[in-house]
Amino acid sequence: MEHVVEPEKRVPVVYDVDVCVAGAGVSGVFAAIAAARNGARTVVIDRFGSVGGNIGPGMIVNGQMLPGSPHPDVPFTKTVYPGLFGLAEEFINRYAALGGGLLQPFTKGANFPRGASVASYLLQEMLEESGASILLSTFVADPIKEGNLIRGVFAENKSGRVAVRAKVVIDATGEADVARRAGAPILLPKNEYTALDGHAPTGMGTYYVVGGIAWDRFRAAQKGNEATEDDIAWGTRTIGAALTKAHSYVLPYLRKAVEAGEYEPVAKVLIGGKSVSVHGGGVGQFEGNELGHGQVQVERTEEVNAGDGLHMSALGAAVRAYAFEKVQFFSRYVPGFENAYLITVAPFLGSRGGPCIEGEYTLTMDDCLNGRRFDDVIYLYGEFRALRKTAEAGAPKWVDVPYRVLVPQGVDGLLATGRSASGVPDTLLRNRLAVKVMGEACGIAASMCAVKGVEPRNLEVRELQGALLDAGFYLGDRARLKELSLT
Ligand SMILES: Cc1cc2nc3c(=O)[nH]c(=O)nc-3n(C[C@H](O)[C@H](O)[C@H](O)COP(=O)(O)OP(=O)(O)OC[C@H]3O[C@@H](n4cnc5c(N)ncnc54)[C@H](O)[C@@H]3O)c2cc1C
Repeated sequence: MEHVVEPEKRVPVVYDVDVCVAGAGVSGVFAAIAAARNGARTVVIDRFGSVGGNIGPGMIVNGQMLPGSPHPDVPFTKTVYPGLFGLAEEFINRYAALGGGLLQPFTKGANFPRGASVASYLLQEMLEESGASILLSTFVADPIKEGNLIRGVFAENKSGRVAVRAKVVIDATGEADVARRAGAPILLPKNEYTALDGHAPTGMGTYYVVGGIAWDRFRAAQKGNEATEDDIAWGTRTIGAALTKAHSYVLPYLRKAVEAGEYEPVAKVLIGGKSVSVHGGGVGQFEGNELGHGQVQVERTEEVNAGDGLHMSALGAAVRAYAFEKVQFFSRYVPGFENAYLITVAPFLGSRGGPCIEGEYTLTMDDCLNGRRFDDVIYLYGEFRALRKTAEAGAPKWVDVPYRVLVPQGVDGLLATGRSASGVPDTLLRNRLAVKVMGEACGIAASMCAVKGVEPRNLEVRELQGALLDAGFYLGDRARLKELSLT
């Protein structure tokens, strides 16, 4: 690739703070609220005009928001945490009170657009109450570096290039943008991770909403028109077993449309010389109304890099076109969908994994399966698959998440939270309740570093753990706390 040299220029400092959080997504917002509530002058920056990341503008809000999301394979209800606490608990109670759902009797089941609006509104309110500043519609660019020390970030918005000075930067961009641009060691997703988690590597997806559906008529038309063995064999042959399953309820119509050359259920996009597929399942119903929703997924392959601007541009365009064409197919072929139309596609292609920092420690699936204990534990995590497997074997396992997964190798002045933290497979730490808790722990750690004037890697972990316990965190039973000298 050819290069040009960017001329040196004087950049105005728009904020000079203790803690700067890059990315106001699920984890970043909790980090910013925690840092501000703990006395740090804090600013949080996001490229979008609203906060919440994947549960805000991304609109994919309900899954795993609560610890008690029951899974049929897990013989107890607490699949993610031994209980709600801290900011996550406050958030979920206020979210439910605003009609966001999940806690009865407010709503039943998933209604993603309603939940996303509530989440975005509430997170902004909680940020404002905490005293944190919010800088929206601003893209975080390079870190401000003094050798290996990060002391803020450059960002771009309508004003041009701006600078934010900070004692500690938290990288909550999801793809470790700040760490990558700082030249810190980075872990990239690998194809072999699929064996550990079917959503890896990267696991990109976009959400969309459909209106104008007559669900009663749709259901009536299904009777006597179910997919035949022959339809299923056709689907498995032409679109693959997983997609056939996802489309099973409209398979006869899909077959008709494909055979007529009017619809292609798998789109192809050229990414770095490789043809990558973009696909999706059917359209599901919202309770009791004429709305439906669906997700477009991108093939899980290491060729796709969520940290590559050109990949994201090509795939972002492809998923939007795919959502439109899917609704067109439904409206032309599927009874009950004659008047259906695409209401909205979430404004970005989200990821479940992607590049992350190589931390002072990298948490692995093996750690989760073995329920490993770490002396620098900041919270306990029941990773979905590990918890399910170990529960099936009769002894459900929760792993200690060590503080070191937040601390990047090679650079100071930086912590990473959420998907940017250090885990293998890349999707390991993604759980959205867990990233809220991680964000809170990270924000508390950053505020302590800023106030004490210590670098994150030198933070006294027992002091951090003490602050986490004060904030209601669960770090283990009484015996364990004694072992850690925390009682
Ligand atoms: C399709 C899909 C379905 C999912 N389903 C589930 C589920 O059912 N259960 C579950 O637990 N998890 C699920 N997840 C995963 C979960 O949503 C994520 O793991 C979670 O959002 C991670 O939080 P985060 O804060 O790390 O990242 P995000 O929520 O992605 O937030 C990152 C934020 O950083 C901002 N940002 C990024 N780069 C920059 C930059 N350079 N400058 C400024 N701002 C920037 C973004 O705008 C965004 O607001 C799903 C994810 C996807 C994509």
